[in-house]
Amino acid sequence: MESKRSTYDPTTHLIHGRMRSDAWEYGHHLVPPISTSTTFRLDSTARGAAGFREFGSEEDSHIYIYDRLHEPNKDMLEERLAAAEGGECAVSFASGMAAVSAALGILLKTGEHVLTHRALYGCTHSLLHGWYPKLGIAATDMDLRDVEALEAHIRPETRVVYFESPANPTMDIIDIGAVAAELRRINAERTPETRIWMVIDNTFSTPFCQRPIEHGADIVLHSLTKGISGFGTDMGGVVIGPRGKHADLLMWRKDFGGVLSPRAAWAIMAYGLPSLAVRMRQMQESARQVARYLENHPSVHRVAYAGLPSFEGYEVARRQMTDYEGNFAPGSMIYFELVGDSPQERQEAGARFINHLARNAYTITLAVSLGNVRTLVEHPSTMTHSMIPPEEQEAAGISASGIRLAIGLESVDDLMRDLEEALVASGEAVPA
Ligand SMILES: *Cc1c(COP(=O)(O)O)cnc(C)c1O
Repeated sequence: MESKRSTYDPTTHLIHGRMRSDAWEYGHHLVPPISTSTTFRLDSTARGAAGFREFGSEEDSHIYIYDRLHEPNKDMLEERLAAAEGGECAVSFASGMAAVSAALGILLKTGEHVLTHRALYGCTHSLLHGWYPKLGIAATDMDLRDVEALEAHIRPETRVVYFESPANPTMDIIDIGAVAAELRRINAERTPETRIWMVIDNTFSTPFCQRPIEHGADIVLHSLTKGISGFGTDMGGVVIGPRGKHADLLMWRKDFGGVLSPRAAWAIMAYGLPSLAVRMRQMQESARQVARYLENHPSVHRVAYAGLPSFEGYEVARRQMTDYEGNFAPGSMIYFELVGDSPQERQEAGARFINHLARNAYTITLAVSLGNVRTLVEHPSTMTHSMIPPEEQEAAGISASGIRLAIGLESVDDLMRDLEEALVASGEAVPA
C-alpha cells in the first residue's frame, strides 16, 4: 500500500492521506477520529526523554508528548499538505498570519532585509512595516513582475524574497520560475548563511491551482482559513518547505505558540482537503465565466483575472498555474473597476455597486475572506488593505475603486443575475 500510494493522483491522496500512522492506531476508522488530548501518556521516563530529545530532529518518531509539540490530527493534515504542494515537510499554525510570521521569523534576524512585491496581503504588510522596524529588520518592496530589476533591489543583508502570485488584491502575476532562476544565480555567489530564500504565499491559488516549489520556490505558505478549509468554519495556516527547515518551524511553533487547534486540523482534513479539487474546478469555471461577463459589460472599466487572455499576467499565469493534470488553473479570484470619468467617479460607482450587493444580492455577500463556498465581495482599499496609507496603495497598484470578488459554488447564472442588477444600480444617479 505504502509504495503504491505515490502512484495515485494527488487529489486522491488529499482524500485518503497515508491511511495509517505508526504513532496512532486508527486502522478500523474510515474517517480518522478527532484527537483532543492536550497531553499524552508516556509509559516511562525513558519514553518521555526520547520524545523531547527527538523532537524536530531527523530521528523524530513523533512520540506524542503535548499538543504544542506533535499531535495526531495535525500530523495527518501536515503530511497531506506537504504532499499536495510537493514539499518535503509541512508545519501547521493557528492562522495564516501565524504561518507568515513563522516562515519569516525562522529566516530573518536583526540587521537583515526582506524584499517583497509591492502588493501584499494587508496584515503581512503591517507585520513587515509596522512590527519589523522595531526588531531592526528592514522590508522594502518593488514590482517583482520586472524580474530584471530584482538584483538592483537586493542588498548584502537580504535573506528573503517574499511574494504572492496572484498578488492580493491586484492579481499581479509574478514569474516564479524566473525569480527562482535569478536567485539561484545570485545565491551561487553567497554562502549557505547569507543565501536568499524565496518564500511564496500561495493562499489565492491553493496547491490545486499552483505549486510554487515545482517552479523553484524554497518555502510555500497558506492561510488554511481560505480555499483549503473552504467552508469558512476554521482558521489555520501552514508552512511547507525543505526538510532542513522542519526543526526550526517546529521549534518556532513550540516557543511562540501559534498552534493549530486539533479540531480545526481534523475539519480541514475531513472536509476541506477531500473536496478541494472539486470545489476549485467548479469555482474556477464560474470565475472564468464571470470574468468574461464583466469584461464585456459596459459598466466595467477593467478586469484583472489570471484566466482572461486580455489580462497582462495571462501568459505567465498559463505557464505556472496548472492543476495536477496540467490543465490551466487560473483560480477563483477577480479584481475589477467600474467605469467613471474620473478616479473619484469610479470609486463612487464601486461603492454603489458593493452596497447594492450587500443589501439586495442573495448569492453575493459583502465579507472579507475568499475561497469560500459562498461568493464574497469586498473593497480592499478601505477594508483588507486599509492599513496601507493611500499614497502607498496607489504605488502598489491598489486602486481606490478596485473591487475584489471571490467566487464560490453558487450557480453561475445566479451570480451573474445578482451582478447585473448591481451593475445597473451602480450606474444610476443617487437620489439627492
Ligand atoms: C487571509 C490571508 C492571509 C492571512 O490568513 P489568516 O488565516 O486570516 O491569518 C495571508 N495571506 C493571504 C493571501 C490571505 O488571503
